[in-house]
Amino acid sequence: MKIIKFSIKNGIVNLFKKIKYYRGVDVLKIYNIDSKEKESINGNTVNKVFKIYKIGSKGANVKEIQATLNKLGLYEGDIDGIFGVKTEDGIKKLQKLSKVLPTGVVDYYTSEVLEKFILGHDTSMDIVNTNIDYTYEIMKKNIKGLKIRYPFIEVGSIGKSILGKELYYIKLGNGENKVFYNGAHHAIEWITSLLLMKFVENYLKAYIKGEKILNYDVNEIWSKSSIYIVPMVNPDGVDLVIDGLKENNLYYYDLIKWNKGNTDFSKKWSANIRGVDLNHNYDASWAKGKMAEKEYGIYGPGPTRYSGIYPESEPETKAVADFTRKNDFKIVIAYHSQGEVIYWDYMNMASKRAKEIGELFSRLSGYELEEAHGMTSYSGYKDWFIEKFKRPGYTIEIGKGINPLPTTKFTKIYNDNIRILLEGAVLN
Ligand SMILES: [Zn+2]
Repeated sequence: MKIIKFSIKNGIVNLFKKIKYYRGVDVLKIYNIDSKEKESINGNTVNKVFKIYKIGSKGANVKEIQATLNKLGLYEGDIDGIFGVKTEDGIKKLQKLSKVLPTGVVDYYTSEVLEKFILGHDTSMDIVNTNIDYTYEIMKKNIKGLKIRYPFIEVGSIGKSILGKELYYIKLGNGENKVFYNGAHHAIEWITSLLLMKFVENYLKAYIKGEKILNYDVNEIWSKSSIYIVPMVNPDGVDLVIDGLKENNLYYYDLIKWNKGNTDFSKKWSANIRGVDLNHNYDASWAKGKMAEKEYGIYGPGPTRYSGIYPESEPETKAVADFTRKNDFKIVIAYHSQGEVIYWDYMNMASKRAKEIGELFSRLSGYELEEAHGMTSYSGYKDWFIEKFKRPGYTIEIGKGINPLPTTKFTKIYNDNIRILLEGAVLN
């Protein structure tokens, strides 16, 4: 009779070998399992000396496990080196997130996962690719990938778009100083979403490795500030610009009418899916802006500048405004494209300090500091923020060229803005 030995560990390895990629993450890479190691496991010759940690274990290694779990946001007990039920619970959570059996025991594979976090995550493969047009679906996958790789980040939704897409937010850090960056109020300006998402990834990478970005100590900023990011305020509009108008769109015929019979939405469309320009839909001289619409030939929904039927009439603006009212943001930046310009004032309401910060941002980026005039100076997000909260709020127009800016412009845009994104979180 032949006895077949079955090992759960081998079973899990083989399962992951079969999956190989889970939600775009290279599973084998995370678990650091190569074929050579597998052979040695199959031959029952595991070279590595390995100790199991479980309830009752004690010592410095247990402290290290607790500290790592704590950093990942999976453990809130004392870092006391005693493996108790709280530590076990944290290990179970990590195992669930890592898609391994939630046994609560630090076995070989769990220790491999922990080690990745202890040593710094495998960064050989970036999650956010900056060379593809950034649709909602790609962003959604990226957010999931980041959450798998960095389980300690807070990810959520501030509301839904008209077509039911999530308005995702990501929170970086746990400090008291709250700041807020958002992108893609305007559909055609989706490159702003990419800027913010790449910033999120690089910031997390630096944090986990304990590295600086330029002269900014990310671990220090992490403990002092919380950076809230809503990378895509207008996902319905972004997808319309990038993917074109699909026949199953609820507003199919309306959209063609609002676009004056044109079925090409790739070059001019800024509004949301109901033809409302979200950055004209906030409650800051909204009525004045409404009166000015006719001068600009705006008589209803369309690609740009239509302010809607009342302030915050759109779920996207309502969600951003509610999120802002709920949080005590010290500073906000709304990212737009293009022009390489920073707008800092609204009806002479911005403070001297706000101007100084604007000047600093201008020096850090090489962008011009300007004041908006005419119709563009009403009912935008930063206008509303300045009027309502009497705090610094900025509209930053990234890049130069014709919208939508191609991703070939990305590297310069990123390099121009990285100092602003970091400085914004350390200002006081
Ligand atoms: Zn814009």
